[in-house]
Parts: sequence; structure tokens; C-alpha cells
Amino acid sequence: MSSNLQRVFAHDNILLVHNIKNILEREGIHCELRNDLMSSAAGEVPPIEVWPEIRVDEHELSLARSIIEKALNGDLSATSWMCMTCMEDNAPAFELCWKCGQLRPH
Ligand SMILES: [Zn+2]
Repeated sequence: MSSNLQRVFAHDNILLVHNIKNILEREGIHCELRNDLMSSAAGEVPPIEVWPEIRVDEHELSLARSIIEKALNGDLSATSWMCMTCMEDNAPAFELCWKCGQLRPH
């Protein structure tokens, strides 16, 4: 059994990448996280080649792309939420603050 994984999303903000992964998994898409540098030395800005990235099966690539597109550019006015820790606005689909990692308040 072989699956051909394709990169669907990459960002230097690991929290953002984790949010996107959560969203995709909620939609039933199997994701693989690569280059998760969360546990490596803090303070270093990794070069773009080692940005954390999400890979999905090539058959789910276009579906995954449209889900990400919707999550990032959805109806912000309706349901975006503000992190009570750092006061940053977060996209409606995010479950963690993309900036500081705080869980979404209920
Ligand atoms: Zn925050």
C-alpha cells in the first residue's frame, strides 16, 4: 500500500500549522505533519525549507486546499474570536490562538 503525500500547507508559525491540521482532521482528511520544530531550540527562525508543513494524500489535495482556503478566508465578521491572552484575532475555524497557542475560550 502506497500513498503519495503532497504538501498542502506550510507556515513558519507552528501554531497556525497545528490549527490547519486540526481543521483538516475534523473534516476527515488524514494529515501528516513534517518539520515540527516545536521542541527544538526557541528563538531561531528556521529557513523556509524547514517550515512545518502538512501533507495529505494526493487524492485529497484539492479538497484539503478548499477547506484551508475557507478556514483562513471565511466569514471573519461573523465568528472570528479574540484571544483573551494576547488579544489577537483568530479565524473562526481555529481552536488554538495562532499567536500564543491559548485554547479558544468557550
Ligand atoms: Zn493568543
